[in-house]
Amino acid sequence: MKKFIIANWKCNPGSLAQAKELFNSVRQGIVGIKGLASEIVICPPFVFLPELLSDFSKRKVEISNIKFGAQNCFYQPGAFTGEVSINMLKDLGAEYVIVGHSERRQNFGETDEMVNKKIKAALEAELKVILCVGETQKQRQVGKTDDILLEQLEVGLAGIPLKNALILVAYEPVWAIGTGDNCEPQDAGKARLLIQEEIGENAPILYGGSVNVKNARSYIDVGYNGVLIGGVSLKAEEFVKIVKNSCK
Ligand code: PEP
Repeated sequence: MKKFIIANWKCNPGSLAQAKELFNSVRQGIVGIKGLASEIVICPPFVFLPELLSDFSKRKVEISNIKFGAQNCFYQPGAFTGEVSINMLKDLGAEYVIVGHSERRQNFGETDEMVNKKIKAALEAELKVILCVGETQKQRQVGKTDDILLEQLEVGLAGIPLKNALILVAYEPVWAIGTGDNCEPQDAGKARLLIQEEIGENAPILYGGSVNVKNARSYIDVGYNGVLIGGVSLKAEEFVKIVKNSCK
C-alpha cells in the first residue's frame, strides 16, 4: 500500500505570504525526491486554500503526488454562520478533509455523531476523509484506550460501508499531540492492530502525535501506512526529510 504523509498546518502560518513560502519550499523538496510513490497531503487553514490551490494547479503535472485537504468541514450548506461546507471545498479543488481532530473534539465540542455526519457528507461528495481517533492522557491512565478507540470508530463510521470508501484513519493519542511526547512505536503498533481489527484492510492507518525526523520511520516500521504531522510540517526541510525517510 502506498504511504500517506499528511501536513496539518493548524492555525499557521500567520500570513498568506508565509503560507506560500512554506508551500513552495515543501513543493521544491518533494519534487526533488526521485521515484516517490506516496501521497503528500497539505492541510492549510481554510483561508489559504484558494490561493495555494490556484498556484498549485498551474504546476499539477510536476507534482501529481501532492494533494490539498481542509482541516475541517461542515456537513450542510445554509444558515451556519462561520462554517465551510463540503461543496465549497470540492469547488476549490480540495481532495481531502480532516474530520474529528482532537482539537475540534476538545475545543469545539465535536462529538462522534457530528463526526459521523461529516464523514457521510464528505464521502457523498467524493472527498477523501482523514478520520482522527485517539485517547486522552486520563483515558490512557485508566486503561480505557481500546474502549475509546473502538467507540470513536463505531460511532464515527456507523452506517458507512468501508469497502472501497475513501477513508484514512489516523491514530492520534491526544496526549501526544503537540507535546513532544510521542507514543512509543510498540504501543502505537498495538493501537494500529486494534484499529485494523475493527475496520479490516479497508483503509490506510496513519500515526500522528509529535512525529519528527527521528521517530517518523519507526511508525512505518510497525505497520503504519503513513504519518500525520502538525508542528514539524511547518518546517519545510524537516517535513521533506520525513517524507524521504518514511517513503523509501
Ligand atoms: C496534529 O496536529 O494532528 C499533530 C499530530 O500535531 P503534532 O505533530 O504537532 O503533534
